[in-house]
Amino acid sequence: MEFIVFDLEWNQPEGADEEVRHAIPFEIIEIGAVKLDKELNLIGKFSQMIRPQVYKEINWRIRKMLNLQPGELERGRPFTEVAEEFLAWCGSDPVFCTWGGQDLTELQRNLAYFDMPPLAEKPFEYVDVQKLYARKMGEKRQFSLESAVDEMGIEKDVAFHRAFSDAYYTGMILRALPEDIRRTSAAYDLYRLPGSREEEIYLRSEDSYTFYSQGYDDRNDIINDARITTIWCPRCGGPSTKGRFSGDMSFATGGRSLKRRIKWFGHMGRTMHAAGICPEHGPVISALKIRTAGNGKYFAEKTTSCASREEYDKLTEQKQKSDAK
Ligand SMILES: [Zn+2]
Repeated sequence: MEFIVFDLEWNQPEGADEEVRHAIPFEIIEIGAVKLDKELNLIGKFSQMIRPQVYKEINWRIRKMLNLQPGELERGRPFTEVAEEFLAWCGSDPVFCTWGGQDLTELQRNLAYFDMPPLAEKPFEYVDVQKLYARKMGEKRQFSLESAVDEMGIEKDVAFHRAFSDAYYTGMILRALPEDIRRTSAAYDLYRLPGSREEEIYLRSEDSYTFYSQGYDDRNDIINDARITTIWCPRCGGPSTKGRFSGDMSFATGGRSLKRRIKWFGHMGRTMHAAGICPEHGPVISALKIRTAGNGKYFAEKTTSCASREEYDKLTEQKQKSDAK
């Protein structure tokens, strides 16, 4: 097993055909990566430019941000060649690590657009270093890579905003993170959705769990599915379905579900909420997002957490406001 920490640079279309833009909203023009062994020693580097084939005109903002030199891109090689070389370099058992989740999505979209084999046929675990860093900071927001490098006191000896440098810094942050934070690495790439109930994912931590469902053709089928709308206490309950569990803690199954004292409300296009009260552990709040996958299907991302009385009261107020509308 090796860690492949990678970063992409891409070009955005201007005035491209709607159908093309939908298939490939960002065309990759550079791949940079570092390879780390199990002990997180740097054991390899990868850096290649890609000559764009779909959006040949480089957006001026991107040209400026990347500080592209004249002729630099033109000397790049076609995506299929570079991607093939990159994936071969990754080896047979890579654990992908990125700053945020978008690079993995765009890599897979580009692979699909150029008719290359997919990275995987189903969801796979990866390391979202940005998420780990936020956990270390005790905040939920998205930090910029540069601010994290500064805060962790990592030497800035390579310029930012090029694929290789950003991959390198992401790798250095991963290495500098405390081990207990690193071990909570579970993030799932959902470009390919769980194909069946058996492949559905439950990510569990001490006082919350996140559930990713299989795909649905219609959003309404999600909010009408009792399996998804039911809430369990993260500490003592649990769905009795067989799912894929991640993390060290075993998940109690078949526990009694909570009565929804605050019924599901909110906009289907954004986040919906519901809440109950566990007699033993107090308020439990569930947040449901309906997301769209690479194949156009809908899936549920539901996070259920133990909450404070304050948070519960705030949600009660929001619910009353929403009912009054
Ligand atoms: Zn409980």
